[in-house]
Amino acid sequence: MAKIIDGKEVAKKTREKLKKQCEELKKQGIEPKFAVILVGDNPASKVYVKNKSKAAQEVGILFEEYTLDANIEQKELIQLIQELNHRKDIHGILLQSPIPNHLDINEAFRTIAVEKDIDGFHPTNVGKLALGQDTFVSCTPYGIMKMLEEYQISLEGKNVVIIGRSNIVGKPLCQCCLNKNATVTICHSKTKELVNHTKKADVIMVAIGKPKFLTKDMVKEGAVVIDVGINRTEEGKLVGDVDFEEVEKIASYITPVPGGVGPMTIAMLMNNVIKAAKQINHK
Ligand code: NDP
Repeated sequence: MAKIIDGKEVAKKTREKLKKQCEELKKQGIEPKFAVILVGDNPASKVYVKNKSKAAQEVGILFEEYTLDANIEQKELIQLIQELNHRKDIHGILLQSPIPNHLDINEAFRTIAVEKDIDGFHPTNVGKLALGQDTFVSCTPYGIMKMLEEYQISLEGKNVVIIGRSNIVGKPLCQCCLNKNATVTICHSKTKELVNHTKKADVIMVAIGKPKFLTKDMVKEGAVVIDVGINRTEEGKLVGDVDFEEVEKIASYITPVPGGVGPMTIAMLMNNVIKAAKQINHK
C-alpha cells in the first residue's frame, strides 16, 4: 500500500513558518497584503477565493477582494490592475481564473507588475522559471515540489511523466521537474499510447480534470503518483484525476484528493505574498 503524502499537514506546517515570517515583517513596519480579483460568479472560484482568504487570515496576511461583474469590459479590468500596481500597501495581485471568455486573460496577466505577480503567470516570471532563475513559481507546481521535498522524494534522474500541458499547471510543473534534474515527458490529449509513457514513469503527475482517469494498469509498481485534478462527482464528492483506491495498492507514494495538492497550492500563494512583501521593501 502506498504511503499517503499528506498535503494538508505539510500546508499547515508551511503556514506556521510563514506566520512567524509575517510577524517579523510586521515588527519592521511591513504589513504583507494582497489583492484578489474575481470576475463573475463562478461557484468554484468563489470557494477558492474563500479558502485563500482563510489561509491569509491564519498567516496574518491582509487581503482585499475585488468582485467584478461578469460583463465588465477589458479596459476596466486592466485599469483596476494598474491601480493595484501603483498601491504601495499592496504587495501581491492575483486574478482568479477562469475569467469570462470575452476578456483577454493574457493581457491581464502581463499587466500585473512583475514584482507583484504572486501567481507567477507574468511572461517575465514564466521566462525566469524556464531559465532556472529566482522568481515567483506558480503555486500548484511549487506546492508539489515542496511536498516532495518534505517527504524526501528526489526527482534527480527520475523519469517523470506529466499528463496535462496547461499554462498554469502542466508547463510550469515540467520546468520545476527539469530544474530538479528529472527526465520529463509531458503528455496531453494528442499523445498516442499514453500508457506506454506512464508505465515507464517513476513519478506520474496528473493534471487534466478527468475523474479517476489514471487507472492501476497505467502505473508501474512503486511509482510516486501526484494527483492535481479536482473534480466533483454527481453526488457532490470531490475526486481527483487518479483512481485512488486502486492506484494506492501499487504506488509507493500517492497524494489524496482532497487533502493533497490543493492545500499546498494555497500555502505557496501565502509564501509568494511574503516573498513579494520582503522584496518590495528591500528595494
Ligand atoms: P486545463 O483544462 O487547462 O488543461 C487540461 C490538460 O489536460 C490539457 O493540456 C489537455 O490536453 C490535457 N488532457 C485533457 N484530456 C486528456 C486526455 N484524455 N489525455 C491526456 N491529456 C488530456 O486544466 P488545468 O491544468 O487548469 O487543470 C487540470 C486539473 O487540475 C483540473 O481538475 C483543475 O481543477 C485542477 N487544478 C487543481 C489545482 C490544485 O490546486 N489542486 C490548481 C489548478 C488546477 P490538450 O492541451 O491537448 O488540450
